[in-house]
Amino acid sequence: MIDQARTGAFISARRKDKGLTQVQLAERLGITDRAVSKWERGLCLPDASLMIPLCQILGISVNELLLGQYSEDGGSQRRSDELIVELRGREEETNRRLMRIEKTVGALAVVAFLALLLIAVFVASAFSTAIGTVIGIAAFAILLGGVIQALAIETYTGWYECAYCHKRYVPGFSRVFIAPHIGTTRYMKCPSCGRRSWQKKVLAD
Ligand SMILES: [Zn+2]
Repeated sequence: MIDQARTGAFISARRKDKGLTQVQLAERLGITDRAVSKWERGLCLPDASLMIPLCQILGISVNELLLGQYSEDGGSQRRSDELIVELRGREEETNRRLMRIEKTVGALAVVAFLALLLIAVFVASAFSTAIGTVIGIAAFAILLGGVIQALAIETYTGWYECAYCHKRYVPGFSRVFIAPHIGTTRYMKCPSCGRRSWQKKVLAD
């Protein structure tokens, strides 16, 4: 049986522990402080849709919110479960951002390469073959540097997954560098089962 008064008192105590006023808590949840006041006086329970964000702010599990007290069985477990879910989400987001950076670095290197190559050809034909050659070499150096940078980002972001045993791993940079690829899927040998397959890039654990 849910004891609204007990839950209300628990919300009030945890809110004060966090140094929040009713108004501040309400603002963070996008509701009125009158609603918070009602919960705390035991007049009603928070809407189901607000329970998880409320619990995250108060640092308790939904179970504990409804019990109106800290619980030893599962309470801390649920808190750590929620944290793990949140951390995984953040890691995935970071990895997606890194992969976007990889594409940008690669694209910029190609654009710079093409532009410098055109300049090199122009300089070589119009002014000096020697200077044109130097600019041409610089163009290839920039292309190679950009590709290496982009591949390094790709190698160390997330994992590659074996198509057979589904082992996820981070290969050495040189393996990624020489592996045939379609997009970010690469044909490589699995360190776990030893079979070769097209291995997908996985960004979330
Ligand atoms: Zn494998």
